[in-house]
Amino acid sequence: MPFELPKLPYALDALQPHISKQTLEFHYGKHHQAYINNLNNLIAGTKFENASLEQIIREADGGIFNNGAQVWNHTFYFMSFSPQASHEPQGKLAQTINSQYGSFASFKEQFSKAAVTLFGSGWAWLAAKEDSSLEIIQESNAGNPLRKGLIPLLTCDVWEHAYYLDYQNKRPDYLQAYWNVLDWKVISERFYD
Ligand code: MN
Repeated sequence: MPFELPKLPYALDALQPHISKQTLEFHYGKHHQAYINNLNNLIAGTKFENASLEQIIREADGGIFNNGAQVWNHTFYFMSFSPQASHEPQGKLAQTINSQYGSFASFKEQFSKAAVTLFGSGWAWLAAKEDSSLEIIQESNAGNPLRKGLIPLLTCDVWEHAYYLDYQNKRPDYLQAYWNVLDWKVISERFYD
């Protein structure tokens, strides 16, 4: 089965004014779709033809890794948003953020800094280690913490295509908007014991 663009649980204009309909039309409708098309073309006739995206991220290299990871990363990113978002972490994730970073506000500051200072194109991540501690990670290009055996909890796409239509070169403004549409109910459920 070829990979397909996942349906979003919200309308393309639902995240306005923080992320515009036009940005989602391009970012989800064109960029995400293009990674899926590229991946399907690249895996045809290879050992990854029937592989999961997670297997591709862990084992593939070159174009198959790049496109496969970009498909996974974008799905994870878009599925973290909601127009009726819960704005605070819940349960065990809330406790762990507070104990490790001091407060949610301090965590937001550190994560935003990682996203804003990431040089070039890439993704800022919050990931869990095997011992359930948390780590903020900067990954270039299509990088994904699964490749290092970590569990991704949250990501921010800092490729310019994620924000240029709405915020031009002002990545910090995009980061401010990003916190408004993140659904911490969904994100908190990704963190298990
Ligand atoms: Mn992107």
